[in-house]
Amino acid sequence: MDSKLHCIYCPREYLLLSGKNTCECGGLLDVDHSSTLESLKAGDWLKQVADRWGAKSLPDSSGVWRYRELILPGFPEEGIISKGEGNTRLYDFPRLTEIARVEKLKFKHEGENPTGSFKDRGMTVAISWAKRLGSLAVVCASTGNTAASAASYARSAGMKAFILISSERVAMGKVSQSIAYGARVIKVRGNFDDCMKLVSEHASDMGLYVVNSVNPVRLEGQKTIIWELLEQLDWKLPKWIVVPGGNLGNTSAFGKAFQELYSLGILDIDEIPRLAVIQASGASPFYKSWKRNFDTRFVDQARTCASAIEIGDPVNRSKAMRSVVFTKGVVEAVSDEEIMSAKALLDREGVGAEPASAATLAGLLKLRSAGTIRESDTVICVLTGHMLKDPDATIRFHTEGDSVLANKPIVIDPTLPALKSVL
Ligand SMILES: *Cc1c(COP(=O)(O)O)cnc(C)c1O
Ligand SMILES: [Zn+2]
Repeated sequence: MDSKLHCIYCPREYLLLSGKNTCECGGLLDVDHSSTLESLKAGDWLKQVADRWGAKSLPDSSGVWRYRELILPGFPEEGIISKGEGNTRLYDFPRLTEIARVEKLKFKHEGENPTGSFKDRGMTVAISWAKRLGSLAVVCASTGNTAASAASYARSAGMKAFILISSERVAMGKVSQSIAYGARVIKVRGNFDDCMKLVSEHASDMGLYVVNSVNPVRLEGQKTIIWELLEQLDWKLPKWIVVPGGNLGNTSAFGKAFQELYSLGILDIDEIPRLAVIQASGASPFYKSWKRNFDTRFVDQARTCASAIEIGDPVNRSKAMRSVVFTKGVVEAVSDEEIMSAKALLDREGVGAEPASAATLAGLLKLRSAGTIRESDTVICVLTGHMLKDPDATIRFHTEGDSVLANKPIVIDPTLPALKSVL
């Protein structure tokens, strides 16, 4: 396999098979595909990828492995642990296009992956790779979705999964998955950042392979959200791609996906869509840092109803910075109220998403008001997780709050007059 691991800070390089997640200098590692990017004929590759759409069997039918030449070049097909992830829908919700007052708005629903979040796109690669490295067990800190995905894919690979989640701040749907899929679920009396710290500092020493988004191989799978999207758009490039930002793995992967298309000569620099990264204001260290031209690093005591992005110290900060700079992106923060109102609007379209995903619509509305995103722009929002991941948040909004968007169920006696009185 030609690809190497390359430190983003220092000149150090490692073999992919070293299984490293971070450099000796402490820096994050990139999977460096330079040799493939040089030898790959862009046109031929795009055609090959396009021909694989609609394949009936794996790995071609996977929305991740379809792009395998630029994920893990040369990886043996029989080693792939896949559930046919990706191939997610791109929705049009005309009412929301109208509300946002933009030229075109579409929603790429990554909640339609096998375990209900985009995490599966990264996990299929991370777990296949863990197996190749001979790992017997994987570990992750999680706000819930990474855990569900790791539990699922580890099970398929015949590996153990150890899951560290906050004992309080995790959505029910997500925990239930990890438990049911057979992972060892460890509830930590603390928040996500406490879990992440334990994993970062001690997991490797304990012989566990870390599948958080600090894992560069995992992020390779998440690039395919962008590639699949652009194919679905017949390469008519949007102006903006809006994504929630938590641990900033997607932000990092999206930038790399564009960087590689640029290296292949498929996109010009000024065609590249701009990333709009949306954080919850109660967990917005990246937003604060962006406000100061990234000259200061912030760490929040994270608190938000959007559990998937309740992260105060994102591990991928430096890669994400690079993505924002490369795409001339922006970072915005939205309140929990804005998130839940946006979620209500989105849910009413009949598909819905979990709170963190709705942060994209909230962010879009805010960036429209500010004039950053213009009426003539075309916009894609990436919905990261399934609506049923966090039913508590939905029910709470509709039954306890006083929002005009609340849709409170009515309770009646089992009689005809009672029924008639409410119809
Ligand atoms: C993990 C997750 C996020 C955060 O993504 P990052 O890549 O860590 O920024 C957002 N939404 C959902 C639903 C998630 O599961
Ligand atoms: Zn280094």
